[in-house]
Amino acid sequence: MTTENKLWEKAENTVFDGQEQQMTGEQWTTARGSWTIFPQLCKGCGLCIERCPTGVIRWASELGAYGTNRVTVDPEGCITCKICADYCPDAALSVVVEERSRSAKT
Ligand code: SF4
Ligand code: SF4
Repeated sequence: MTTENKLWEKAENTVFDGQEQQMTGEQWTTARGSWTIFPQLCKGCGLCIERCPTGVIRWASELGAYGTNRVTVDPEGCITCKICADYCPDAALSVVVEERSRSAKT
């Protein structure tokens, strides 16, 4: 099996933001990179769903910390373009492109 065919995995991820606050996100990783949502920060504005070119972001069944809808991803179709993270007004999304994936395209 090539790394390109590796299935995405959901995992807990602990990070620190600029305020040194500990947050727990839900992260999926693949050969192309990683996609992480921090439910504590998502206010459910829906901008990421609107802007995702592949339509893989959807509403999660659980509510976010504000009691509003929050998002999740169907990771198989994510192309790690980062558009969702760029548009999120609350820094609730983090997309990291795998360097080897990036250089393979050039
Ligand atoms: S990185 Fe791009 S393809 Fe992946 S969920 Fe975000 S907007 Fe959609
Ligand atoms: S753009 Fe950010 S705050 Fe808005 S729904 Fe998406 S993740 Fe949540």
